[in-house]
Parts: sequence; structure tokens; C-alpha cells
Amino acid sequence: MKIDARVRVVGRITMRTGAPWFTTWESRGEVSAECLEQQKAGFVWGVLGTVNWCAHDGKVYQIEDAEGLDREEQELLILHCKLQLSQKFKQIQREIKAFENFDRLIHRDPIVESVRLFVWQRDQGQCVECGRRDGLEFDHIIPVSEGGSNTERNVQLLCLRCNRSKGAKV
Ligand SMILES: [Zn+2]
Repeated sequence: MKIDARVRVVGRITMRTGAPWFTTWESRGEVSAECLEQQKAGFVWGVLGTVNWCAHDGKVYQIEDAEGLDREEQELLILHCKLQLSQKFKQIQREIKAFENFDRLIHRDPIVESVRLFVWQRDQGQCVECGRRDGLEFDHIIPVSEGGSNTERNVQLLCLRCNRSKGAKV
């Protein structure tokens, strides 16, 4: 037997202005607080117009071509859809991570040991901004991406926090 049913995520159930709301792309409406609670653990079925919907774990699902399938089977399809979504996002995460690592390798030439040593001694082993002595990083004053060099004139010691807040300003 072939299963033709298609599961779609059509919306979600969230808290809005203190009350649980059912929101799909086409419609929205308040639902009972009970509904909000129940759908965390299990499945809540409802009808909107002529459309059957099912809320589960924060999302609202709709199953097309579900004729002949009972509730239990439809709920299995929803769990399967949820599993596929989470696997897809894990894969996307892995791909982004790999890209970021690659990007880092390509664009960051390492600062050579002699420059590190010189900068460490010149800046007295502390953050040039706040004087912290832990969580220190070698920072490019002019970023490498903007043509900054790896020489001691363009490198300084910054703590993690000052480096991040510098990054936010740029
Ligand atoms: Zn600092």
C-alpha cells in the first residue's frame, strides 16, 4: 500500500498577550490554555472551517490526503515529519559550521610566533583596553579582511570581552 498523505507545518501555537493563540499563515484565533498544555506532550486535534489540524510540540500540522488513515497513523506521520525537520536542521548546522571553519582557515593568516612574543611583552600580558590578564586574544587593529597586516604594529592584546565589543562597533 502506498501512503499518499502529505504532512505540512502550517502554523504554531504560542502565547500572545498572556493567552494561548493558534496561528497559521491563513488564520489565527485564541485556543484554550488546556490546548497549549496538552500539545506539548501529545497531540491536539481540531477543525478550522473544513480543515483538520493537529497541534504538537508548538507547531500546527495539516495532513493532506489522509483518507483511510486513522489518528494514530496520522500522528506517526507527524512525528516522522518532525524527525525529518530536525535532521534537516542538524545537517544545515553542520554545513554552516564547516563553512565557518573553512572561512577562518582561508582568511586568517596565523600571526607568527616572534610577533606574538613581541606583542605579548609590549602589552605586558594584559588587555590594552581594560587590563584583564585572562581570556586574552591577539587582535588585528585593522582587520585582515580590510588589508591589515600580521606585523606587531597591527596586532594588540585584547581580552575576549573587549574584542567582542570592538567587533560589535565595527
Ligand atoms: Zn579588555
